[in-house]
Amino acid sequence: MKNIIFIAPPAAGKGTQSTLLKEKYCLAHISTGDLLRKASLEENERGHYIKDCLKSGKLVSDEITLDLLTERLKQEDCKNGFILDGFPRNLDQVLAYEKLLEELQIDLGYVIFLSVPKELAEKRILGRETCPDCGAVFNDQIEGSKPKVPGICDVCGTHLTKRKDDNLETFSIRYDTYMEHTKPLIDHFEKLGVLYTVPSIDRDETFKMIEKIIKD
Ligand code: AMP
Repeated sequence: MKNIIFIAPPAAGKGTQSTLLKEKYCLAHISTGDLLRKASLEENERGHYIKDCLKSGKLVSDEITLDLLTERLKQEDCKNGFILDGFPRNLDQVLAYEKLLEELQIDLGYVIFLSVPKELAEKRILGRETCPDCGAVFNDQIEGSKPKVPGICDVCGTHLTKRKDDNLETFSIRYDTYMEHTKPLIDHFEKLGVLYTVPSIDRDETFKMIEKIIKD
């Protein structure tokens, strides 16, 4: 199975689609947001710096993000293929990642651009609930995405939590950061011939489209 990279604005469904793919195809799900949230809990200078970035909605430095990612990519479960959810976020990260792939002898794989209207992304942000244990994502405002038992993860039974950066103010900064730094990557991957665009409106329809891409 080839590796998959998701490029998308905030709340486009990267986490949801990654969880579905992970379960069905046994791929490792690497969310740089999750890696950074974990690192932000450390009581040291790096932890405090990351916490500030997450709170503000700005990107964490490339150096820290790449260090965490490199460490994660070396773990055993990535050998079967992995999904990158939230990385790369700017052109410098792409260039550093391409170098890293060469060093580790890993294929770039598919790059999937999940497109979603800004208004829908905003609605998703406000109702989003995440499982702190397995990373599954639910939404208490959107039919079809609600957990079976309110506040409890369908997958592993853990209490769901709301992310601190899921508010309108931070969303606006994260969206602007995406438009400025991440959206231009679409051109880069299109030129390499590895880009696929999938509208991310309905979870199951989107998943079917992604499956078609990765099975062809
Ligand atoms: P996400 O979970 O992908 O929505 O990311 C949450 C936050 O983590 C972002 O708003 C950034 O502050 C930080 N972050 C996640 N991925 C990256 C990355 N590749 N580079 C820098 N910062 C990141």
